[in-house]
Amino acid sequence: MLEALRSIVQAVNAAGDLQSALDIIVSRIAEVMDTEVCTVYLRDPDTKRLIFMANQGLNPELIGKVSLGPDEGLVGLVARREEPVNLDHAEKHPNFLFLPGIGEEHYHSFLGAPIIHQRSVMGVLVVQQKDSRRFDEDEEAFLVTMSAQLAGVIAHARATGSINTAQNTVGATASFKGIAGATGVAIGQAAVVVPMAELHSVPRRQCDDVAAELGAFTAALDAVRSDIRALSDKLLTQLPADEHALFDVYLRIMDDGAWVAEVVAKIEGGEWAQGALSQVMSSHIRAFEMMEDTYFKERATDIKDLGRRVLSYLQANDIEPPDYPERTILVGEELTASMLGEVPREKLVGMVSVRGSSNSHVAILARAMGIPTVMGASDLPYTQIENANLIVDGYSGYVHYNPTPEVYEHFRSVSEEDHALNQGLEALRDLPSETLDGHRMPLWVNTGLMADVARSLDRGAEGVGLYRTEIPFLLRERFPSEEEQRVIYREQLLAFAPLPVTMRTLDIGGDKALPYFPIEEENPFLGWRGIRVTLDHPEIFLVQVRAMLKASEGLNNLRIMLPMISNVQEVDEALELVRRAYEELLEDGWDINLPPIGVMVEVPAAVYQARQLARRVDFLSVGSNDLTQYLLAVDRNNTRVADLYHAYHPAVLNSLQQVVDAAHAEGKPVGICGELAGDPAAALILMAMGYDMLSMNDNSLLRVKAVIRSCRFEDLQSLLDGVMLVDTADEVKAQLRKAMINIGMERLLQQTSGGV
Ligand code: PEP
Ligand code: MG
Repeated sequence: MLEALRSIVQAVNAAGDLQSALDIIVSRIAEVMDTEVCTVYLRDPDTKRLIFMANQGLNPELIGKVSLGPDEGLVGLVARREEPVNLDHAEKHPNFLFLPGIGEEHYHSFLGAPIIHQRSVMGVLVVQQKDSRRFDEDEEAFLVTMSAQLAGVIAHARATGSINTAQNTVGATASFKGIAGATGVAIGQAAVVVPMAELHSVPRRQCDDVAAELGAFTAALDAVRSDIRALSDKLLTQLPADEHALFDVYLRIMDDGAWVAEVVAKIEGGEWAQGALSQVMSSHIRAFEMMEDTYFKERATDIKDLGRRVLSYLQANDIEPPDYPERTILVGEELTASMLGEVPREKLVGMVSVRGSSNSHVAILARAMGIPTVMGASDLPYTQIENANLIVDGYSGYVHYNPTPEVYEHFRSVSEEDHALNQGLEALRDLPSETLDGHRMPLWVNTGLMADVARSLDRGAEGVGLYRTEIPFLLRERFPSEEEQRVIYREQLLAFAPLPVTMRTLDIGGDKALPYFPIEEENPFLGWRGIRVTLDHPEIFLVQVRAMLKASEGLNNLRIMLPMISNVQEVDEALELVRRAYEELLEDGWDINLPPIGVMVEVPAAVYQARQLARRVDFLSVGSNDLTQYLLAVDRNNTRVADLYHAYHPAVLNSLQQVVDAAHAEGKPVGICGELAGDPAAALILMAMGYDMLSMNDNSLLRVKAVIRSCRFEDLQSLLDGVMLVDTADEVKAQLRKAMINIGMERLLQQTSGGV
């Protein structure tokens, strides 16, 4: 059964469009379950009617022509109940509805299972037979499993289908739901970025020069052939003959004229070489993967490997810098910080990532740079939208493809309102961050790029609460040397002096992988991350700390902060290393001070040991992004569970209060530098909790300041008391919403993240 299931899903995945996907589903399920009839009904999102979309065994002429209302028939019952209905005499059931002409009258037994995607019913899958018998447990379980597996595939095919239709129909549009990554609206054209040597994510693109593309393809084939021969010669004496024969298989595949001819034909038809290669190879890979025979299945891996080798030569030789549209919306399967860095800043207006969520680091970077972004737009057929007109709605998390003039007009006015709001906020730049009744709330910034610095200072930042040192590491091809680091850090410290700059020691791992120091783990967020990596590599840690200390000479505005601390030993060891670096530099004649050292509270264990940690260091700073993910067991990068990531979750808020109380009990200051600090509504309760400093991306500074300057500190304690009494994140959100309206800050509500 498992094999049958897998092969049906693979076949459906390989289908070119929605209708072929549905046709494969009905014919393969009828075959595997040995039933006379199999049907897929899909729910029309607008009318909610269940449409007879694909069928095996009934009247094919009615496909697409008949439908059932949400309360009609057994199919309506399955959809309404959201559970299977299994009957031996369907026609005797009170819900049975006779559809004239469809030919159901001969079939007595009926089994229907709902097709549910992201909690909503997309359709119903039905099998029927002439014999009147109840389908047995195994059959029912099979159909339910099948339908659960197919739901995502159908949703994707449906979304892709809407693009295909749109491309062929002038003025047609499509919208795709993702997650709001960075607020704001962007209107522009898609530029699809492709990670190196990923066959499946190559965009379709028309080429101008067929001969040049053919030449590039032939050259890439030759290069791969000679690489394989060289590899084969090298391993000739080291591998047993059987294994060595693999190279002959590779060479045979390379010399197989059929697929090469298919690629050539596609290029001659006007597709660029990378796209032609990707389409042909992908269909061969799928064909092999679907074969029953394990030997042939394995060949899929060989073909994939060869395809990637050819692709990497094509990509390496594709030296022409990409021609980014004037208003580029960068689109990719999984956008990364370095992809973002490649687009000229003045052209980059928006971003869409098919994977990830609002707390992925690329989203944090987007917020810091003020680039409206949608994350996790999982149904977007991104390889097919190169150069398409797009609107990125970073408030609601929607991407609009080929928008109608009305949609376009709406978003243009939202964008203008945004602009006016930002202009209005500029007036707050030089005013103090204090409440109407005189309570001061220092606002610091999070930085990582030099570009952040000027904007932060311009917007009145009072210090840097988090300098993410991994960003300069991410943008290089090797670890920066001690001197290179010293220069980078000096620049930051100098720019802000005498204001304090909190430098976090290298926090790699999780979703921050250095290209030159890969960490491959099953469970990277629970793995080798942050301080765990640097304590295991004291040479990296010491070089970094020495560079920071040297950079602070004569400025004395450095603070050092340790990420991902989960026990006190890590702090003790890190402190020992920092002191060692400091002593050595003093001996070498550097005129420096030992800076304040702090710990990030971002692991639940650190919340419970906040007092013990605070005793050892000079300050604490809460990393609410990680703390939320670890407290709620929700991967901050995972689109599927993004709805569960609530920074307003009462458990998170309780922890935040606990950390303040612990730090203050030890007489130590405590700040917060996660994204929650930049949420204007959250600022109200963070202040009441007693946070000594909020550190956020510079784009949030003036918004948060506007809220602080509009409220009375003495009113905030009762707001906090109320918030702490409720049971859900939604109730917290509602209370904060009310408070924002009361202080006249309704217009900043759309900026509220809170993850809810
Ligand atoms: C955090 O976890 O809240 C934090 C500030 O660190 P990062 O987002 O870089 O993991
Ligand atoms: Mg963190």
